[in-house]
Order: sequence, then structure tokens, then C-alpha cells
Amino acid sequence: MSNNNNCRTANRNFCAPGGKIAVLWVDLDGTTIVCQPYFDQAHANYGHFMKLRGFDPQESIEMLRKIDKANTERVGFERDRFGKSLVEAYDYMRKLKRKRFKEDEILNDRQICENIGRAPFFREPEIFPNAAAVLGRAHHNFMIFAVTIGNREAQKYKVRQAGLQPVFDEIIVTSRDEKPQLVAQIMKDLNVDPKLSAFIGNSKRSDGACVAHTNFIYLPLEPGWDYDKVAEIPSSDAYEVIQVQDWRECEERAINSLIRRRRKIMGSSGPTPVLHEQPCCKDRDS
Ligand SMILES: [Mg+2]
Repeated sequence: MSNNNNCRTANRNFCAPGGKIAVLWVDLDGTTIVCQPYFDQAHANYGHFMKLRGFDPQESIEMLRKIDKANTERVGFERDRFGKSLVEAYDYMRKLKRKRFKEDEILNDRQICENIGRAPFFREPEIFPNAAAVLGRAHHNFMIFAVTIGNREAQKYKVRQAGLQPVFDEIIVTSRDEKPQLVAQIMKDLNVDPKLSAFIGNSKRSDGACVAHTNFIYLPLEPGWDYDKVAEIPSSDAYEVIQVQDWRECEERAINSLIRRRRKIMGSSGPTPVLHEQPCCKDRDS
């Protein structure tokens, strides 16, 4: 159990009633950092490459999607997986269409496929509009965890490159699909108030599942990839699901609302969190 006496410093206050703390868990890919266009680009590049090698590009891309989905279910979210899926899809198409290439050509082709698959992980990361500013302000009022599925080095590199390191108290990277379990663990370890906390994410499935333990702020800036698509956002009797369109709305409608509730509860007893409004909204929201 952490010492929650530390929840208040000169410029931070994430104290919640009963010696608890308020936490935001924040998904990275597709929520904070732009992700999908890089994978779309890799799919397009693969289609183009396969066309040059005499295959139907659409059929090749479809096959890649199928193989990568199966590999994700089998091996999880390691960084090498996507490149390996491309090589596998290339080999499969070659055999399916009975294409006869020379051995050294095949080796070269496989190398090209691997490189296409590696590209999305080594891009200069792009942050969604207002994400850094909103999280920077929220840092005054919440302990903030980045929760992300993927490769540890790749994800930490992205956070560093994006300049987001200062807003996160911790970056939790998992190679398995287990966000709700991670949230539950932190809840227990740090004595978190789940009703005054929230998980922010773009995936109805892997992020939405966290509504079992805390509020879910659904921020669908990217539709997510095939593996992540489910029809409905999970619901909960205990916690709220708040859908917002962008980071600014996330702050106004969800984050600030959590702060106000906390302020109301704690108003008469002890320290109260401070709302950090955007200049435009000061009058309207105070
Ligand atoms: Mg995501």
C-alpha cells in the first residue's frame, strides 16, 4: 500500500476521500499517439510491393490481415509480430499462386516485407491535438498511468520521443491483453477511489473492459484495428461510460467533472483539488 499522504504537493493534489487517491489510466496508441495511419500505410506498401511481384494487391492485403489477426491471438503484441506476419503472408501467397521465384529473390522479398512491417514502430510519434496540454493540466489533479499493450522498448521510446514522459507517473507496458487486471492491481496497490478515477481509451474492447473497475472515457480518435473491433461498449452498473470526441471535450466533460465531484465531496474536509481551466473556459465553468 502506498503512502497516500504524498497525494498532495505544492503543485499536485490527487487526494480522494478516505485516504484514497484519484487516478487516470490513459491508453497510448490511437488515444494519445497517432497509430492507425502508420499501419494503414504499411498495409498499402505491402499491397504495392505484392503488385510489383505479380500478385493481386487486395487479395494480398486481405491475407495479411487474416494472418496477422491469427498471430496476434497466438503470440500477442510483440513488436516483431507484424513484420513476421508480412513474411508469412508473402510465403503463403507465393505457394497459393504457385509462383516460382529464385531463392535469393525470395530472401530479398522477405527482407523487404520485414522492413515494411517494422516501419510503423520507428516513426516520429505524432500526438493528437490537445492531448499533451490536457494531460499536463490533469497531472495537477490525478496520478496518471499510461497503460499500453505492445513492446516495452517500442512504447517507452514513443513516449519519450513524443515528449509525454513528464505527464505520466508510470508507463505500464504489457505484451498481453490484460488492461482490466492491471487496473485492478493498481487500484489495490495504491488505494484508488474508482468512482473519482477513469480509464481513457479508444478501444471499446481492451480499454472498455476496464469499466468493470472504474469509469471509462471512450475517446474514439481512431477506429482501432481488426483485432480490437467489437460492436458495443461494455457497460457497468457501478461506473460510468462517457463518450467524447476529442481531448478538449474529454477535459471539459469528463476530467473536470471528476475533479468537481471530488472537490464537492472534500470541500468541507481538508485539501481540495484545483480546476485548471483553459483560459477560454474560466468564466463558464468555475
Ligand atoms: Mg488504443
